[in-house]
Amino acid sequence: MNDRTDVVVVGAGIVGLATARAIVAARPTTRMVILEKERGVARHQSGRNSGVLHTGAFYPPGSLKARFCSRGRSMLLDFVGQQGLPVETPGKLVVAATAQDCERLDEIGRRAQANNVPQVERLDANGLRRIEPNVRGMAGLWLPTAAIVDFNAIAGRIAEDLSHEGVEVRLGCSFEEARASADGVHVRFDAGVTDARFLVNCAGLFSDQVAWASGSRPPLRILPFRGEYVRLGGRSRDLVRGMVYPVPDPRLPFLGIHLTPRLDGTMEAGPNAVLALAREGYRRGDVDLREVATTVGSLRFLRFLRRYGAVGIRELRRSLSAAEFARAILRVVPEVDPADLTPSRSGVRAQAVSDRGQLVDDFVLLEERRALHVLNAPSPAASSSFAIGEAVAERVLAGLS
Ligand SMILES: Cc1cc2nc3c(=O)[nH]c(=O)nc-3n(C[C@H](O)[C@H](O)[C@H](O)COP(=O)(O)OP(=O)(O)OC[C@H]3O[C@@H](n4cnc5c(N)ncnc54)[C@H](O)[C@@H]3O)c2cc1C
Repeated sequence: MNDRTDVVVVGAGIVGLATARAIVAARPTTRMVILEKERGVARHQSGRNSGVLHTGAFYPPGSLKARFCSRGRSMLLDFVGQQGLPVETPGKLVVAATAQDCERLDEIGRRAQANNVPQVERLDANGLRRIEPNVRGMAGLWLPTAAIVDFNAIAGRIAEDLSHEGVEVRLGCSFEEARASADGVHVRFDAGVTDARFLVNCAGLFSDQVAWASGSRPPLRILPFRGEYVRLGGRSRDLVRGMVYPVPDPRLPFLGIHLTPRLDGTMEAGPNAVLALAREGYRRGDVDLREVATTVGSLRFLRFLRRYGAVGIRELRRSLSAAEFARAILRVVPEVDPADLTPSRSGVRAQAVSDRGQLVDDFVLLEERRALHVLNAPSPAASSSFAIGEAVAERVLAGLS
């Protein structure tokens, strides 16, 4: 491949695919290539997540997460409806277990209202039991419009549509380097080179490296956080009907261990958030020594440890001890029998950490000459993907003209 193209997108996760879809929708004549290092689409975050189509209740009003989640959710619902893809709406119960949780729940309620989340209901302890009889807590927030979908199937369908529209989805093709030129960008990948007018980086866990290999120097790095799940079997499977979430810790961009029904009828709990020792470190034993040495040796990481060391140790304990993991579930559903919990799958989040050692809370889209880098797109980026794609497409098309 060495013909000139208009746009090269790196990464066929849901964000890269939704971006390409939005570009084609806005300007169907755009010539576009998607480079994906795996042999299939959505093999990493997009295909290994909880499958929750978030309502947008948790995010600070005005943030990109709040804006994109609200719009992206309704765009995605339209898409799955038109395409006949599976979706269910079991609703989400956010449970406050302590007085401190209740104060935080008030703030989430205010955010939900400001973010126009529909049909939100504040509940007392009796109200909680009305929705989920086996859940215990002091108060709750009921978000009945929270849905579950299959992001793998959605990504697959977008990729099929894009191929029909003439977009080349190059699987098994790894981006290596890009250099901006006067009228475009010269892209090198493992199987060749191509010249494009614009580069879009949606490389998830490797988005910072792709940015650096394109000459950008963003003030952040990606830290991989593994999220491990357990499956609820036996009698514990049927103790709750819908999603049950704890009140999230406001210091962290993660939502805490929650119960989520899956479209296949199973019920899962998770994910925790353990610092992984490899970017695609799905198992505890996966270690990338070079990556670890680079991370641990940086001032950024020392600052990160100072801020989050204690939380990190708690998450590690939960990962190593089944009893600790179970405790997080029993806190809100005390009837769960720990013997019914079986370790199941895992995913790894691409979470940006700033040079000051802070976990970056909002999405980050960094625009440069002839390139746009999506540098922080953790949860709820799958729910928000169509809106992120729309916003990126707008900037790409402006850059092309
Ligand atoms: C455990 C877990 C649970 C989650 N739960 C939810 C949820 O319920 N709801 C929700 O909305 N969000 C959830 N998220 C977040 C959501 O899954 C991600 O925000 C979203 O999938 C990010 O999509 P992406 O396309 O940016 O990244 P990815 O899906 O990771 O895609 C990036 C792609 O880039 C490719 N790539 C990387 N480097 C290169 C290279 N050099 N050359 C070519 N290709 C490359 C990768 O192979 C990959 O396919 C969860 C995430 C995790 C990990």
